Amino acid sequence: MTRVTAAVCRAGGDLFGVEELVIDDPRPDEVLVRFTAAGLCHTDLEVAAGRMPTPFPVVAGHEGAGVVDAVGSAVSGFAPGDRVVASFSFCGTCRNCRNGRPAYCPQHFPLNFGAQRTDGSTGLRDATGEPVHDHFFGQSSFAGYGLCRPSSLVRVSGSALVDHVLAPLGCGVITGAGAVWNLLRVPPGSTVAVFGAGAVGLSAVMAAFERGDGGGGGRCGADHRVRHPARAARSGRPPRPPLTGRLVRWWSIWRRRMTKMPTRWCACGY
Ligand SMILES: [Zn+2]
Ligand SMILES: [Zn+2]
Repeated sequence: MTRVTAAVCRAGGDLFGVEELVIDDPRPDEVLVRFTAAGLCHTDLEVAAGRMPTPFPVVAGHEGAGVVDAVGSAVSGFAPGDRVVASFSFCGTCRNCRNGRPAYCPQHFPLNFGAQRTDGSTGLRDATGEPVHDHFFGQSSFAGYGLCRPSSLVRVSGSALVDHVLAPLGCGVITGAGAVWNLLRVPPGSTVAVFGAGAVGLSAVMAAFERGDGGGGGRCGADHRVRHPARAARSGRPPRPPLTGRLVRWWSIWRRRMTKMPTRWCACGY
């Protein structure tokens, strides 16, 4: 159990309030990460505004970078001291996950916007002992520490990039660069119009520039499939958090679309 300072959304429209919370020790399938940087994405603001199906109170944040503090007994591939970037969660067993498109996992909404463990519990409590939702996108990185799902973590080697540059790789960079490289497949010499110059838009510009000069260096990415072969090989229905409120309808629409996705469709963001 660790004390942690976090930005908490108490209700839709309240934005963020800094609070002192308590976080559990990691369960066997969790990794405790000490976050040193986190990007702010419009999705976090949509959650704070109450326009997403995420329950309150919640610690948002889905572009975290930091250092592994402790590792659950069933987790492999990570060790205390590892530098990591945190991104979204996925089941690892469905067709889209197995085919390298975890961004289109049918379990995306319960695993990422559900903001809780798959048994419905949370790892955070406030000063009165009441639970605070975490595991948002498998990380809840608007906090000093987060209990992360291993599927959300990518280990980073070397020290060439500082943490506040690494953090947006978890969402903005892979979304913008993935749209140019994987979805649009922008050919050299073509013109690209990018609307919006935040992390997503600027990443799209950089990706288009890299594609334009034909250079092969500087690309970034990670194949989540190779990180958890045991999970991917496991058969049966993958665990997901219980569904309540608006999450039921959002997940139903998402799952219907994702299970019918053609296999040749390239993923934006991957
Ligand atoms: Zn985002
Ligand atoms: Zn999946």
